[in-house]
Amino acid sequence: MANTVESQTIVRAVEAVQPTIARISAAVWELAEVGLHEVESANVHLRELVGAGFRIVSTGTAGVPTAFLAEWTQGEGEPRIGFLAEYDALPGLGNAPVPRQEPRADGKSSGHGCGHNLIGAGLTGAAIALKALMEAQGIPGTLRVYGCAAEETEGAKVYMAREGLFADLDACLHWHPGPIAAVINVRMAANDSLKIEFHGTKAHAGIEPWKGRSALHAMEVAAHSVNLMREHLEPTARLHYVFEAAGTAPNVVTDYTRIWMKVRDADRRRVNAATAWIRQIAEAAALATQTRAHVIHYYGVHDLLPNTPLAERMQQHLEHVGTPAWTEEEQAFARACQRELGLPEHGLARQVVPLQHEPTIGGSSDVAEASWATPTMGIMMPSLPLHASLHTWAATACAGMSIGLQGAVAAAHVLTRMGLDLLSDAELRAAARADLARRKGNYTYQSPLLPEQRQPLNLPQWLNSDGSVEAVAGMEQLAPT
Ligand SMILES: [Zn+2]
Repeated sequence: MANTVESQTIVRAVEAVQPTIARISAAVWELAEVGLHEVESANVHLRELVGAGFRIVSTGTAGVPTAFLAEWTQGEGEPRIGFLAEYDALPGLGNAPVPRQEPRADGKSSGHGCGHNLIGAGLTGAAIALKALMEAQGIPGTLRVYGCAAEETEGAKVYMAREGLFADLDACLHWHPGPIAAVINVRMAANDSLKIEFHGTKAHAGIEPWKGRSALHAMEVAAHSVNLMREHLEPTARLHYVFEAAGTAPNVVTDYTRIWMKVRDADRRRVNAATAWIRQIAEAAALATQTRAHVIHYYGVHDLLPNTPLAERMQQHLEHVGTPAWTEEEQAFARACQRELGLPEHGLARQVVPLQHEPTIGGSSDVAEASWATPTMGIMMPSLPLHASLHTWAATACAGMSIGLQGAVAAAHVLTRMGLDLLSDAELRAAARADLARRKGNYTYQSPLLPEQRQPLNLPQWLNSDGSVEAVAGMEQLAPT
């Protein structure tokens, strides 16, 4: 059975955390710290959580300095519900909160083009609202907020999953801004991130080219081979790459090149096979050009597992809460964005999308790692204009004004209702667990990270250690003594 707390009581609990959601979302939007640099953004969340009575379990969690865990418990500890807060911004997507492409007044070039300031705010708000409800109603359980750093690059959830940090949960909740209101009942692709380096020998390209060995040629052979390989992969596969380093001058034989590549497919088995093939290609390209290849396989995720019982229940709550009550100014803002983007001027979504039946999409998310450990489900709430895309200036603009905030608050309403159900409905928890067991079959979770990958590859120098560095000292001061 669903929870018995009255709807109005839940509404009031979420209304009470609205200022918290607004503070987090505004502060993190202003900071616009990119993945693995989100020291202050993590602190913004921790300050609110500690202020609300949560305990800091860890900072620098699982080797990621800007990740954290915070929790609150009442009673014996069970059931345990997780909240996947994210807070990293994207480079180059800074924008003023106006309905046109315009740099921020402070000149900051990064921005929340994926609305992660809203994700962290909405989930933290939901966790704090739930705590108040649990206290008022005497409901036992544990609420654990995961500070999921660097979702856009080398997501902390993969590191957390390797350490089993989702294993004791009964369920895990998340949400993502988007143009529509929908339950994220989709399958997302598994992926690997690779850097393929080639080392050759420099020489004067005009006078003595025979003394050189070209790393650029190795890269060309490798890229060509990858494009031939495509024909023999299943249609679900995606291979995309950029030439990150490709030489500096045509009159010098290039001695160093680097390809940055993403390999995606429907599941880990297929991604593993493609990555193994690409390693062979790198070796073959090196052989053909008498250079050396070095493949750095530094990151990867699983495919995202849906969960039918959770998706169906979430759909009920989403339909109950509905889309935010947009003001005429917000609709006008959205239409102005659409005009600038050359999109139909349909404003902001006013309807909830019917439950989708697990379509496979080409994108990936590190939420997948949680979904293999515990029943996991999320929603998309409208926080940007219809037809507009994430990772655009318009998404940044909306995430920095009332449209984004309304989306985060509406998401918190749905997540709080869902959280209450999970805490009080043992049948729902059992059904969700059985669904996960059926989907996993006899697959044993194996981290996509190689054992030697102890920390993210692109960790900034000033944050490189086990996480207990001065830069996050601010967090430690918040820890209860
Ligand atoms: Zn995102």
